[in-house]
Amino acid sequence: MNLHQPPLSSVHQTDQLPWRDATLLHQLGPAFGTELAPTPLPDLHWIAHSQALAEELALGNWLASDEAIAMLGGNALPPKASPLASVYSGHQFGVWAGQLGDGRAMLLGEIDSPAGRMELQLKGAGPTPYSRSADGRAVLRSSIREFLCSEAMHALGIPTTRALSLVGSSAPVWRETRETAAVVARVAPSFIRFGHFEHFTHSARDIASLRALVDAVIDRHYPACRGAEQPVLALLEAVSRRTAVLMADWQSVGFCHGVMNTDNMSILGLTIDYGPFGFLDAFNPGHICNHSDHQGRYAFARQPNVGFWNLHALAQALQPLVAGADAVEALKAALEPYKTAFAEALQQRLRGKLGLSTDQPGDADLVDDLLRLMAQDGCDYTLTMRSLSRFSSAAGANNEAVRDWFVDREKFSVWSARYLERLRAEASVDVERAERMDRVNPKFVLRNHLAESAIRLAQRGDFSEVQRLLTVLQQPFDEHPNAPAAYAALPPDWAHQLEVSCSS
Ligand code: AMP
Ligand code: MG
Repeated sequence: MNLHQPPLSSVHQTDQLPWRDATLLHQLGPAFGTELAPTPLPDLHWIAHSQALAEELALGNWLASDEAIAMLGGNALPPKASPLASVYSGHQFGVWAGQLGDGRAMLLGEIDSPAGRMELQLKGAGPTPYSRSADGRAVLRSSIREFLCSEAMHALGIPTTRALSLVGSSAPVWRETRETAAVVARVAPSFIRFGHFEHFTHSARDIASLRALVDAVIDRHYPACRGAEQPVLALLEAVSRRTAVLMADWQSVGFCHGVMNTDNMSILGLTIDYGPFGFLDAFNPGHICNHSDHQGRYAFARQPNVGFWNLHALAQALQPLVAGADAVEALKAALEPYKTAFAEALQQRLRGKLGLSTDQPGDADLVDDLLRLMAQDGCDYTLTMRSLSRFSSAAGANNEAVRDWFVDREKFSVWSARYLERLRAEASVDVERAERMDRVNPKFVLRNHLAESAIRLAQRGDFSEVQRLLTVLQQPFDEHPNAPAAYAALPPDWAHQLEVSCSS
């Protein structure tokens, strides 16, 4: 079933949308996927949408139109659109998994927006040739999680695919039990993954297509690499740097992705494919958020190493394009900047979380010792970090707002004396520091139990909690005095029993 037609690149209006019907993958040709129509769903209804993203895309009030819900739920197509399910491969849990592909995602086309050309992809819009035995659907539960977290991560300043809308249907979908279908409309400059490159090298063994893909990605997304002596190596280095920064972002905010397979790694260094992710509650470097990850391969503290491992898989995929006897060495050299880029980005973020505006010897130890203490005492990561902005450097201040998070008060006092000395070394002003810290230590993150409460209500037909949570998560550094206290409180006991797995 390949309905591929010659590349279409016309721009036309679908009511109010400045719409292009062919994405970069469409233009690359039939080796890159299959064009097909979404499978319609019964009684589509709005669950939520991101007004912030709609505004960034300058969609006006298009979302309010009948056309919008039909299109974003997969029941109607813009004129000339020919949605594409792309083919990719990948390593899953460290093992080569062969061909995968968009089993339930379809690229509709691109919007010309003030933020640049943005691809629009529906997730859960029906089976594709890459669905294998699965149904091509996404359940309401996991779609709420992806929708909320995409927008929450963006608001935290972390590169991510975005979520424009969440549309529900009464269609039953079977997982462990009967659930219902939903469709998330995702937006990103590109949905290309490491696995797309691996596909052409290891599965299709089609090096001409690999070259075409690399050229297209460089031209569209990494134009600075074009002028390099070896653009392929420059691309690999640029992707390594972006991935390093992404890992630093995740670690600094306590985000655990859960399924860092190479098919879930974006070539643009975006967070992509929200499944069994989780934000740390108590700080635990060994935290495993994915119930199906029995070995802890994707445990919180391992993420930066896995990112590097995945970049090696990308390097291997690019090897056929690198000439010369020293190709392997050259590829390794292109990965090398990852280590320092990650370490520097992480230290910069952690210094920021402590409100330090200069870089001084001993800072890394000061941060590590705080984290060690937090791990030992099981301190809540988000709340403890947020409380640090209340740390007073006034003589005799007991700083109980921070100290009370710790069980071992003695050890905390020893640490806080060092912190105080460090703050004085840069003549830190409490009020100014607090302001800076509150812009980098969020008050609100999408904890599992908060998502779960919104899901339980939504499953009963009440979508108000999804919208309420979204509103707060879109401004995670603000105080929100009227938000429910639970949003910025320790998780309740029942939260510890929650399990999230790959089932979605
Ligand atoms: P994920 O772990 O969600 O990134 O998915 C891994 C692979 O399985 C991807 O190729 C997905 O498109 C595919 N997949 C996951 N769930 C489904 C589903 N319900 N129907 C079809 N394909 C799916
Ligand atoms: Mg995936």
